[in-house]
Amino acid sequence: MDKIVLASNNAGKVREINELLKAYDINVVPQGDYAVDSVEETGLTFVENAIIKARYAALKTGLPAIADDSGIEVDALNGAPGIYSARFSGEGASDKDNNKKLLEMLSGVEEARRTARYQCVMVFMRHAADPTPIIASGHWEGIILNAPKGSSGFGYDPLFYIPTHQCSAAEMSPELKNKLSHRSKALISLLHKLQEMAL
Ligand code: IMP
Repeated sequence: MDKIVLASNNAGKVREINELLKAYDINVVPQGDYAVDSVEETGLTFVENAIIKARYAALKTGLPAIADDSGIEVDALNGAPGIYSARFSGEGASDKDNNKKLLEMLSGVEEARRTARYQCVMVFMRHAADPTPIIASGHWEGIILNAPKGSSGFGYDPLFYIPTHQCSAAEMSPELKNKLSHRSKALISLLHKLQEMAL
């Protein structure tokens, strides 16, 4: 297959996706290599935002594109921050700011009500005007801790506790996170769909 552009400028995501793709014979290059800037995410769903990002990267590079849109849904906050996860505490917010805001909003909420999940939608577009993007999704269940733990991963990982493994996502090796995560589930599902269609 020809080159595919990966529509993300998030270093954490690019690292995880590249690691996952090593097992496949696919030539994916980050949009940063083509100096593609970030596009405004104006959608109201993960699917819409993933398509917006893939379409923009395909338009700017002339290549087929893969994009992911992801975020964390916290049940006690009615699913917030959801699609606003990256900008939870404002435009250009750091992971630290976002984690601080999440802890503040959950202050006093007992463990049983701190359930949450990461969501990821991955799309593949053959070109910018592709009317039938291929869409796959994955999710990962966890519990929001009372304080950050671990220094691996990115984003909300230090607050995202995985009961089955008794540690936060930031305490896992990158290899283990990549076996369990919403992003790996979505990407593997997307790759299966691409293989089925012999793309
Ligand atoms: P996006 O780049 O608009 O898709 O924003 C995704 C945001 O969701 C990230 O900036 C993180 O805040 C959060 N997020 C998504 N996936 C993960 C993950 O695997 N670990 C931690 N945070 C994540």
